[in-house]
Amino acid sequence: MSPHGFPNLVVVQHPLVRHKLTRLRDRQTGTRDFKALVHELSMLLAYEATKDLPLEPVDVETPLERTTGFHLAGKKLALVPILRAGLGMVEGITHLLPHARVGHIGMYRNEETLEPVDYYFKIPGSEENRLFLVLDPMLATGGSAVQAMRALKDAGATRIRLLCLVAAPPGVRRMLETHPDVPIYAAALDRDLDARGYIRPGLGDAGDRLFGTQ
Ligand code: URA
Repeated sequence: MSPHGFPNLVVVQHPLVRHKLTRLRDRQTGTRDFKALVHELSMLLAYEATKDLPLEPVDVETPLERTTGFHLAGKKLALVPILRAGLGMVEGITHLLPHARVGHIGMYRNEETLEPVDYYFKIPGSEENRLFLVLDPMLATGGSAVQAMRALKDAGATRIRLLCLVAAPPGVRRMLETHPDVPIYAAALDRDLDARGYIRPGLGDAGDRLFGTQ
């Protein structure tokens, strides 16, 4: 059993992740550093979320001799940020996975019901068993994530992973109930949500802090 009781959740505990997340939470961290930290953390989460990608052996000539190395076997990968805060996670991951296609899912949160409202959906085709990495920094109520998974599955996706910076128990639970086949990778599992649907202790509004719109 996982230490937090959620079999669908991997909390990445690497010291670099914990250090960078703490800087991200800090209210004193300005937009420029916040953006850079989101890039770095996203890259570290993607490193973990791709650690079981299949490899195939290939021959390679070093300057000294011929040997056998490895290439990724299935190169069909897509990053799917949920707009708008998910956009901040694309650039860092693209450094690791430069050939990944990028889809977009547009949703905003109705501040009264806290439920997501869709306005955009465009993703690469799901041929060759493509792996979709869905990006959303904050997994709060889980409303947007659940709806994004539904839309991706309706479009033919069969292999999906969700990457978020901070997760809250209600969102992880809702994902477990509705999409138990989707593993979640997070830098932290926080205590709870407040009455406005913010994750506590959290880091505030990720979109506003990324784009300087607070
Ligand atoms: N979205 C955010 O940006 N922050 C939260 O705490 C919850 C949802």
